[in-house]
Order: sequence, then structure tokens, then C-alpha cells
Amino acid sequence: MLQHDVIIVGGGLAGCRAALEIKRTDPNIDVGLIAKTHPIRSHSVAAQGGIAASLKNVDPADSWEAHAFDTVKGSDYLADQDAVEILTKEAPEVIIDLEHMGVLFSRLEDGKIAQRAFGGHSHKRTCYAADKTGHAILHELVMNLRRNGVKIYDEWYVMNLIFEDNQAKGLVMLHIETGKLEVVLAKAVMFATGGYGRVFNTTSNDFASTGDGLAMTAAVGLPLEDMEFVQFHPTGLFPVGVLISEAVRGEGAYLRNSDGDRFMEKYAPKQMELAPRDITSRAITLEIRAGRGIHKDGSAGGNFVHLDLTHMGKEKIMSKVPFCWEEAERLVGIDAVVEPMPVRPTAHYSMGGIPVNTDGRVRKNGTELTEGFFAAGECACVSVHGANRLGSNSLLECIVYGRRVGSKIAEYVGDRPLPAINETQYLQAAQERIQKLMEQTGTTRISDLRQRFQDTMSEHCGVFRTDEIMSEGIQEIQSLTAEYNDVFLDDKSTHWNTELIEAMELQSILKVGEAILTSAYKRQESRGAHSREDFPTRDDEKYLGHTLSFCSDDGVTIEYMPVVIDRFEPKERKY
Ligand SMILES: Cc1cc2nc3c(=O)[nH]c(=O)nc-3n(C[C@H](O)[C@H](O)[C@H](O)COP(=O)(O)OP(=O)(O)OC[C@H]3O[C@@H](n4cnc5c(N)ncnc54)[C@H](O)[C@@H]3O)c2cc1C
Repeated sequence: MLQHDVIIVGGGLAGCRAALEIKRTDPNIDVGLIAKTHPIRSHSVAAQGGIAASLKNVDPADSWEAHAFDTVKGSDYLADQDAVEILTKEAPEVIIDLEHMGVLFSRLEDGKIAQRAFGGHSHKRTCYAADKTGHAILHELVMNLRRNGVKIYDEWYVMNLIFEDNQAKGLVMLHIETGKLEVVLAKAVMFATGGYGRVFNTTSNDFASTGDGLAMTAAVGLPLEDMEFVQFHPTGLFPVGVLISEAVRGEGAYLRNSDGDRFMEKYAPKQMELAPRDITSRAITLEIRAGRGIHKDGSAGGNFVHLDLTHMGKEKIMSKVPFCWEEAERLVGIDAVVEPMPVRPTAHYSMGGIPVNTDGRVRKNGTELTEGFFAAGECACVSVHGANRLGSNSLLECIVYGRRVGSKIAEYVGDRPLPAINETQYLQAAQERIQKLMEQTGTTRISDLRQRFQDTMSEHCGVFRTDEIMSEGIQEIQSLTAEYNDVFLDDKSTHWNTELIEAMELQSILKVGEAILTSAYKRQESRGAHSREDFPTRDDEKYLGHTLSFCSDDGVTIEYMPVVIDRFEPKERKY
């Protein structure tokens, strides 16, 4: 049986930053980090536009308080304000620390770190490395892990969390290359498993964003928080769904409908294209519904709008957003210097996740904590984004809370002994799960069931939602979940069996999808990214609370937990 003082699942920004902090706090703590991809291929590497911090390099009037206010307003007042305070106060120092580590940020003429405008932020505070910010940061972090002696298990798939007597004790994982199963024992387990964009049929997320960490947490009877709040990014490249960064609008691009109008004038007259994402995604969806979307031949009535960069000029496009230009050129054959890009909303980010306190300790329910179990990054809900995340606050969350949770874990493990478990029992259960899948003789292909599930989620829990559409959706996914017993695998091999991994990932997205739909169905108001046509206004009296969803074989039960409001009183949100 493998053992470490601390085991971290996830090699993205949150997991790597936490591992590094543990080693910085005490180099003798033995840390293992597991990723089902190579860490450098974690979705963090794809982050484009930047990371927010009130460094005041461009805008001296900025402050952490202004950043905190923008974040809370952006969240539609559902963010926990103590968590937001930590996020925004610590932002400048974590950026300087990254820069000292060697991260190559873009610069101003005077050599300081450059900062650009981003949606919902009242000042220019987003630091960036062209439009490849995640790449620049993740590479530096991974190199630092190796230098600091963190044991990396890459291409291992974690199947189960071992959780007994309210304590996380380790996990069971599968070596993708050889099919070998291992139990890992640890004094503390941290999840940094990223988002779940693959629950939907059109997403900017990578193929590995299947919410495994959330599903494993739910499987041991722990709740998930605020799952109804899914961010649809306004500018997914049509039809593929990959992201065209908000940085493109931050640098001055326009959104236009089939009449050529900058329609954001109607929806957010002050902030225009730089309104927060929930508002901009709804605006695009409404324009398309009203027949002002565009067809491929340029005529009206299609299902995308235009993102127009043509007035920005080649030099600016190539120096500030070269990767976005390249994506449009490579994937849909559009040269954005001379023609507009076709875009529409795409599932992008999960505001909800594993409920944690500001030390990253996972909650058992609304009042009690678990032992030995931590989470940070996109899989966690601390909650700094509430009902809607502002762009460039997520990388920041990974770094601020990665660092903070790392240091809390180092404190927590102290002189604790390793827990004791019955290894054979867990190995056997994992073996049986795999064997059952291998031997199942149904007629349904994994990819077919997954596609139907993703279509159902996109159709029944998208940008706009109603009671009727969601209750149909819940029934459909229950019957799709039942169909899982009818799937069969073509590939029966033990080595590099990616079909087996996809089968287990499908179980994750099915579970996460049910939590999303049920939480959304129960919340009878509109707040941030959760937009109900049958309940179009925010209802603070009934719903100013975090949703906790508890999943079991009998369905999902919902409870609510208070929001921390200690600085900014909820107001109407206008842009
Ligand atoms: C295209 C794109 C652009 C973005 N741009 C920005 C931006 O400019 N600014 C910003 O603030 N945010 C941006 N975001 C959001 C931000 O990138 C993510 O929220 C953040 O990087 C998530 O980091 P993470 O460490 O939580 O998880 P990830 O980077 O997603 O890493 C998850 C890790 O968990 C591992 N894992 C998951 N399940 C298992 C399992 N079962 N077994 C083993 N390992 C597992 C994966 O292998 C991976 O290593 C963007 C997101 C996308 C998709």
C-alpha cells in the first residue's frame, strides 16, 4: 500500500500551488500529487485572458476593496464576503510571488506587469501573459514541484475516496498505462480536480473536466454546494464551442447581431461588451431567439452572433490576443483581422462544488466539518464567485486558495499518525467495479449514452430555465442513468483502456448532472447565472442562501446554508 503524509488529486493550478506551499512550509512533509492527465495537460494550461489583482500598475485608483466589491456584485451577492476578502487582499502578493518564481507576465513600457480590462471589473486589473496566461503559470509551478521533491503520479485515475468515520483516509487509484490498482493512505487528502464542463454538449473545457472529484465526494454522502450556478461563457467559437477569451473584448472587440448593431447597448449600456458573463450570455441568447442571430452565409435568423475585431488592427490583435486569432483561423477558417468571428455561449465554469470553509476544510453539512479532507480550485466552493464568476478571478482563486489550503494542510498533518484501513476491502470493491463494466453485455455504447446525456443537460438546464423544462430533464436523466446498466465496452484490455476511463467518467457526469438539475429546479428565482423564465427576479427573502445537495440512490435532497455578508449589503445589480 502506498503512503504519503498528504495526497493531492489534481495537477492544475490549485493542486500544484498547494503542493508547493506544503513543501515551502515544511520540506519534510511527504507529498504525493496525482493527475489523470500529465499535470501540464490539466485544463489550467488552457486559461487565456489573465489573473486579477489590484496591483495598480495601470490604474492607481484601484484597491482590494474595489476588487472585493466588484466580485461580490458580480456574484449577485451570493459570494461569502469573508472568502472574497481573503481572495482580493492576498491577490497582489501572490502575483508578485509567481513573478519571482519565473512566470513571464506581459509588461508595460516601464517594465511593470501589464494589466487589462475584464468584464465586471471596474478597474484595469487583469495581469496576463498575452492570451496564454494559464500556460505560463502552470509550467512554472510544475517545474517547482519537481525541484521541491513532490512525488508526481501522472496518468493515474482516482476512482474512490476512502472516507470512514467522518475522516478522509486515502484513495483508490488505477494506473491507466498498466491497469494496476493501488490504495494510497494519507493523513490529509486534498481534491483539486477542476470543473465539469463535459456535463454539457458544448463546452470550452477539456475532455478531462468530468467532475470526478465532485462525484467521489457525493458518493461518500457529503454534500455539493451551489451546483445550479453554471457559467456559460458568451463567446464560444461556433460551432466547436472552444473559448475565445474575454480578453478579446477587454482589448476592444465588439459584439454585433445580424443588423450589425452593437446590441449590448440594450442590455448593459454602461459596460457594453464588458458586462459580466451571465448578462452577456443572456443577451446573445435573446438576440438569437429574436431572429437577430446570423447564418453562415451572413443572413439573419441563424444561431450565432459576431465578435468583431476588425477595427482593432493586425498589430494589436497579434500582440495581445494571438492565440484567439489562431484558434479562429485553425478551427473555422476565419481571419479575424479582416472578418468577424462566429460566437455563441458555451458551458465554461462551475461556480459550485465541494463545500469548504476558508481553510479549505470540506464541510459535512451546513455546520460541521470533516477531518483530513480538503479542496481548492474549481472543484471547490468556498464561495468567492457566488452565482456568477468574474473573468480572471478563477486563476486567482486557484493561486490564493491553493497557497492558503497548502499551508493549512501543513499545519493540520503535524504529528498526526497515518490512519488505519482495510486495504483488501477497497481493492476488491474497485476490482469488482471494473470487472462488472468489462463483463457487462448490454447494447448501449458509452459515447452514445454520453451524447444523449450531454444533449439533455444542454437542452434542459442551459442559459434559460423553466419548471417544465427542468422537470422533464430530471426524468430524462434518471432514465439515462438507469441505462448505464446496459452499456458495453469494446475494449477489454487492461493496458491503456481509455474506454474504461470514459465509462467511469460517464458515471461522474451523470451524478453531477443530477445535482445540477435538481438544485436548479428547486431554486425558484433568478440570480447570476441561474436564470428562470418563470421566476425572473432575485428573491433574497427566500433564496439568499447556498444550496447543499446530498445525492443518494433515491435522488437528491436539498438544504440551504446562510451566506456570509459582512461588508456589502445586497443591492440591485446594474451595469
Ligand atoms: C479555455 C479556458 C480558459 C480559461 N481562461 C481563464 C482565464 O483567463 N482566467 C481565469 O481566471 N480563469 C480562466 N479559466 C478558468 C480556469 O482556467 C480554471 O477554473 C482553473 O484553471 C481550474 O484549475 P484547477 O486547478 O482547479 O483544475 P484543473 O486545471 O482543471 O485541473 C484538474 C486536475 O485534476 C485532475 N483530475 C481530475 N479528476 C481526476 C481523477 N479522477 N483522477 C486523477 N486526477 C484527476 C486532472 O488530471 C487535472 O490535473 C479558463 C477556463 C477554460 C476552460
